Amino acid sequence: MTEIKSQFDPSLRKTIKGKKQVAVIPVGSIEQHGPHLPISTDSDIVTEIARKLSEKKNFLLLPTITYGVSFEHAPFFNLSIKESTLSNIITDLCTSLFANNIKTVFVINGHHGNLKPLQNIDVKLRKLSKNKLQVFSLSYWHFMNGEFDHAGFAETSLMLAISKNVKMKLAKKGLVTSGMNQQQIKKLGQLASKSFPQVTKNGIWGDPRKATKRDGQIILDEIMRNITKKCQTCLTGHSSKLHQ
Ligand SMILES: [Zn+2]
Repeated sequence: MTEIKSQFDPSLRKTIKGKKQVAVIPVGSIEQHGPHLPISTDSDIVTEIARKLSEKKNFLLLPTITYGVSFEHAPFFNLSIKESTLSNIITDLCTSLFANNIKTVFVINGHHGNLKPLQNIDVKLRKLSKNKLQVFSLSYWHFMNGEFDHAGFAETSLMLAISKNVKMKLAKKGLVTSGMNQQQIKKLGQLASKSFPQVTKNGIWGDPRKATKRDGQIILDEIMRNITKKCQTCLTGHSSKLHQ
């Protein structure tokens, strides 16, 4: 893996010239994750996944876009950018990568609110580059088998596996959907995307109290296996569905 920010110009250009490069842009968020997880949670997790992926596949890792679209968490703390801003940042970065002769980009997303601006970005960039630039956006939680949450069991376990900045003693049960049908859960999800605190009351979707580092490691391994496979499929062109 080459972490792009620590490189020097001549050798970086040589690397790019020598072999067709694939770039990875992690995108996170800064938003409340209950009293037990830091506001950088999404950015921390997606950075780790993008780093592992880049190591495994020898990709060029770009610095994480730490801000995302998190207005739904107000009045709890969030630092948000507009959907159009995020879409413009990704478009500009990919265009710049293309100008540097890097034509394949994976955008790895770590936050639900970023989904919409990332949705058709591949089409937009294909058009802008006259079909020369390939952009794939993948949201990491689509690559785990269990249900995802917000500061619940899955996300808290993932954080325990990658960070020391977790306060398990403060972990509180949030909105628990077991016993509800898919339709009810979907409806709550739609409401939560407008006001997360209104639906969950304490800003937590799920129950983090039984989260463990070991569970986080298992979930992380599973995500890495699946997302690596998906990237391979994208690169060989055998994928029918590019956006996840
Ligand atoms: Zn999160």
